[in-house]
Amino acid sequence: MPRSSPLVSPLARGTFDSASRDEVAAYQLNALREYVQFIARSSAYWREKFRRAGVIPADIRTLDDFRRLPTTDKAEQAQILDTAGEQEFGGLLARPLAEIKGEGAVIWRTTGTTGRQRSFITSTAEFERTSAANAARVLAMGGVHRGETFGILAPVNFWVAGLSFHLACRMMSVTPLLLGPPFDTLAKLEILREYRPEGVFLTPTFAFRVVEGAREQRIDLTGLGTRVVILGGEVTTAECRRTVHQAWRPADGVRDAGGLSETMGFLFCDCEAEDGMHVFEDRAHADVMQSDNPSVAVDSSEVGELVITAFMQREMISAFRFRTNDLVRASDERCRCGRSYRRLYFVGRKDDMRTVGGVNVFPGSVEAVIRNQDSLSGEFRLATSPRHEFLRLRAEASPEVQPASYAALAARLNQQLRIALGINVRIEIVPFASMPRFEGKARRWEEF
Ligand SMILES: [Zn+2]
Repeated sequence: MPRSSPLVSPLARGTFDSASRDEVAAYQLNALREYVQFIARSSAYWREKFRRAGVIPADIRTLDDFRRLPTTDKAEQAQILDTAGEQEFGGLLARPLAEIKGEGAVIWRTTGTTGRQRSFITSTAEFERTSAANAARVLAMGGVHRGETFGILAPVNFWVAGLSFHLACRMMSVTPLLLGPPFDTLAKLEILREYRPEGVFLTPTFAFRVVEGAREQRIDLTGLGTRVVILGGEVTTAECRRTVHQAWRPADGVRDAGGLSETMGFLFCDCEAEDGMHVFEDRAHADVMQSDNPSVAVDSSEVGELVITAFMQREMISAFRFRTNDLVRASDERCRCGRSYRRLYFVGRKDDMRTVGGVNVFPGSVEAVIRNQDSLSGEFRLATSPRHEFLRLRAEASPEVQPASYAALAARLNQQLRIALGINVRIEIVPFASMPRFEGKARRWEEF
């Protein structure tokens, strides 16, 4: 029976996630000061990095002191992991590798949408204490309970999101359905129809594909018994959330969960208010910094780069002042759900942004216009002109649209994009099903 979603969650009552902002800040400062000393003591990489920067860990007393500490990012870690060889992990480990492996370890890899995949390792106990516990919190925020079934429509081999949900299910006595490869969209839908899991997890891109596949196969998603749809792995646009609500009608709504390989998976998730992702501030510190200067925070509610310190990490120290490349806006106002934990609103990824005719363009802003058109399937690719003076868009028509109408459709779309983005777009409409679908994360920018 679908249960209603009271806006004041039982999880928020009387627990730390409804503490005052001052209490949260005091707790975090303490945790960060202790963590700086811990990594300086235990990780050869961080010890050397602090030494070169002249950092004396005991001198870190305020958040501003902390913000002056060195940062790291994906490119830097790729370089040290590659140079050191993956067995040594470039000094990022705060425990001897033999000790970690001696306890049984979990290995996960970056999802590799750009460049080569990098490998991370931690003991199973640490993975359960951090990644799986965080994924369990996402399940709890989505209202998935003991005795229920949860469909993981994502790879569970090396992807930290899938791995942590799998272990979280075991910790919560929830039955996981592992629906990654080799199942195709239709097979996944058949399995969902058979087992009727109360909750499912998938990427926003794949959610669109499932909605499209269900329409093609005349499967009614509202009849699958799904109470909550959890999205993650990419930025969830408002259009994706609306599409999932309309097609699936999950009684407990949609949740958007976020994190990275380097943070060992999920560190933020939105609540039943569906109004920004709450940072798990008892486990991680999320700073919004000027994107060209990670030592200076932006003013509240301004957009900046998300810099994360996952201070729960005690073995693989991959998320200390980690520049995520994500552009976000934060709110510290208490949420309607009762939680005080900081909320993040994702704008887009810095490396997914192109400047066209002086305007910053994210695929998500183009997608917002495209998904609103019944005449388009929603599949599209973007390119920029050689001198970046205009945007090129290739968009796929819906099955019922005849090629004779493509020119009119392109003209209409051009007008809407010019209003929405303020730039010139050269549009090519192509027939339905002529573009490959993404089953995981989408890559919209191409050269064409
Ligand atoms: Zn909330």
